[in-house]
Amino acid sequence: MVKILIVEDEKPINDLVRFNLELMGYECTQVFDGNKGVEEACKQKYDLIILDVMLPEISGFEIMEYIKGTPVIFVTARSSPQDKIKGLRLGADDYITKPFDILELTERVKAVLRRTKKDTGFFEFDDIRIEFDNRRVFKKGNEILLKPREFDLLEVLVNNRNLALSRERLLDLVWEFDYEGDTRTVDVHIQRLRQKLGISDRIKTVYKTGYRLEV
Ligand code: CA
Repeated sequence: MVKILIVEDEKPINDLVRFNLELMGYECTQVFDGNKGVEEACKQKYDLIILDVMLPEISGFEIMEYIKGTPVIFVTARSSPQDKIKGLRLGADDYITKPFDILELTERVKAVLRRTKKDTGFFEFDDIRIEFDNRRVFKKGNEILLKPREFDLLEVLVNNRNLALSRERLLDLVWEFDYEGDTRTVDVHIQRLRQKLGISDRIKTVYKTGYRLEV
């Protein structure tokens, strides 16, 4: 199981990050100050550290000196380009400024884990197996052919499983900002995924909002 250490002194943010990462199936450890951060990072091997910069005791930048070889995503209110450059020079894999969108964080966590090969590269539920690297989907061992957008949509649903995603959010994440489509496009693709994979009961319609993959 992927292990993630969250070093963040603001408890509501720390809890929010933990809650969402646990929904994605990751095991999380929370600490709330710099000393504990160093202690925990040295005590056991983590696959990723979510690191705040302004922390009691020891700053996130200083903690980087103790972290060798573990991927780090800085999450910080310090948004100046100098700070960002400093964070990345110290070896962080990514840098997110507060306030941040939790979905942006989860997408970046996924990307870093994928890059560092910590993620398994596939996801399974019921009789479905999704292979992200070669973009193939199987049901009971038989391949189901999905169009590129259908696969992208499925991947976003899996990455944000058990979370309600609005149609607008799905448009942004799957079709990105270059697409001038309307939200019915999302409905059409959701219908196709439900039919092709036989997962109508797994992709829930969230009243007046959008959809949620429940697994
Ligand atoms: Ca802080």
